[in-house]
Amino acid sequence: MNKISTFLILLFSSFIIAQNKYEKLANIDITIFGKESKNFVWLTLSENALGQTIDIPVIVLKGKSDGPVFGITAAIHGNEVNGTAIVHQLVDHIDVSQLSGVILAFPVLNPQGYQLSQRDDMTDEDLNRIFPGKKNGTESEQFVWAIKEKIIPNFDYLVDIHTASFGRANSMYARANLKNDTLAQMAKLIQPDIILDSREASAGIITTASKTLRQEAEEKGIYCVTLEAADPQVVQNDMVKRGTNGILNILAYVNMLKSTNKKITDKAKYCAKSYWIYTDKGGFLDVPLSVNQRVKKGEIIAVLSDIFGNEVKKYLSPEDGVVIGKSTNPVSAAGARIIQLGIER
Ligand SMILES: [Zn+2]
Repeated sequence: MNKISTFLILLFSSFIIAQNKYEKLANIDITIFGKESKNFVWLTLSENALGQTIDIPVIVLKGKSDGPVFGITAAIHGNEVNGTAIVHQLVDHIDVSQLSGVILAFPVLNPQGYQLSQRDDMTDEDLNRIFPGKKNGTESEQFVWAIKEKIIPNFDYLVDIHTASFGRANSMYARANLKNDTLAQMAKLIQPDIILDSREASAGIITTASKTLRQEAEEKGIYCVTLEAADPQVVQNDMVKRGTNGILNILAYVNMLKSTNKKITDKAKYCAKSYWIYTDKGGFLDVPLSVNQRVKKGEIIAVLSDIFGNEVKKYLSPEDGVVIGKSTNPVSAAGARIIQLGIER
């Protein structure tokens, strides 16, 4: 294993029209890496106010032979660290002597948010809502532009790993455009609890000027699924294991690794759409449901109390569905999220 721990990559070789796409991966000259190697390097994306480079960690797994380029991105939301742990476990598990092609794994795409243990970057911008960024835009826009220019175009396949946001819990679910057979298969192979058919790029509000990484990747013709691996700011070993195994299944499916011969079951609940239900009053919120639990129309999904503990209101499910995500934070102004209800197809 080659470990090049402080290898700063400053190459900006956009003029290379390489026959061998390995030569231009993420603008890292990976021809210097031997076959069957694991390499740990830094990629420069921007500069901070001290004039120091802002670098992100990149793990390059180079296989025994040519093949696809498989991307794994984590923590574009800085506090979604189950994804970081999945990258670590996956890299540890993969035998590069059995690998075809190249894996580019990014344990932390948002280094500022990661260091602050927060979702957004230092300017409180959500990096996963401002793709493609701007070359001459704000600090955040330039950073996202660099991700778009230097990283995304290299992938044939991509799994972008997330979790719930602060104060919320998620099931383990996959978001993908299920109209596409390859993407549907990738989502299934993750073996999540829930698969959400999502042609929108995110469960959040998206306008054409504010895309997610997945939407940007899909527009470039890259097969991309989003893996939502449970809860923020924690490492949940069961989720890490499931996420790792799920990505190993996909790597076998795209012929980059040998099949594990593990039986793939399809127990996921398939949802055609989902939406958040919000409070309309402020108070202390109790959501007596578990993620991945089915609810019936009219079933109690939350009880809101005033600050003295007196019940203010019960919230009922507007239709049959499954709890994809839920609030875990009782402190709820009017307009607080209660549950993300998935509607099964
Ligand atoms: Zn996220």
